[in-house]
Amino acid sequence: MLSNNTVFLASANPHKIAELEQILEPFGVELKSTRDYAVREDVEEDQPTLEGNALKKARFWHQKTGLPSLADDTGLEVDALNGVPGVYSARYAGNDATYSDNVNKLLRELNSKQNRNARFRTVIAFVDGENEHLFEGICKGKIIREPRGEKGFGYDPVFQPQGFDKTFAELSAKQKNLISHRGLALQKFLKFLK
Ligand code: IMP
Repeated sequence: MLSNNTVFLASANPHKIAELEQILEPFGVELKSTRDYAVREDVEEDQPTLEGNALKKARFWHQKTGLPSLADDTGLEVDALNGVPGVYSARYAGNDATYSDNVNKLLRELNSKQNRNARFRTVIAFVDGENEHLFEGICKGKIIREPRGEKGFGYDPVFQPQGFDKTFAELSAKQKNLISHRGLALQKFLKFLK
């Protein structure tokens, strides 16, 4: 599966690269990413599902590099909005939306709703040339009414994971990684690698 212990991560996001490097290092896995390639290429995330986007990115980079390739896609699925923003979480308030534009839109849409239940869902795709594998991580919680906390990114200040009285933005990165959608999907991937 890993011929020379190198995995390609289809991301230019320094936070994701650092997080995964730290996790994979003890397993003797070397990570390459789009920053190791002079050519800047972007795969358009235009698929209607998280699975579709993750697979599209992993397939593209596997073809480009010949390396086993990993890609992820994440969405916030809100019950009272029938799963929206979901796969469109990054551009919920428009193509150039900032994190706070998206959070403000979400709070407006939920203003009159009693049901505040939501979940983050991450799908990791791994394409090694022989097979394609998908790993899913889910973190359930609720959307609170006023943002709280300074850490994290995206919808973290309004997402309170189940069993906690703090938002993701009030938890340390270590605490968040232990229970988060991305952390859980990564744990499944690691179990598979072992
Ligand atoms: P991506 O697929 O990881 O790029 O995530 C898509 C969008 O979902 C991001 O732009 C964020 O708005 C949101 N998102 C993903 N992961 C998280 C998280 O852990 N906390 C808060 N928001 C997130």
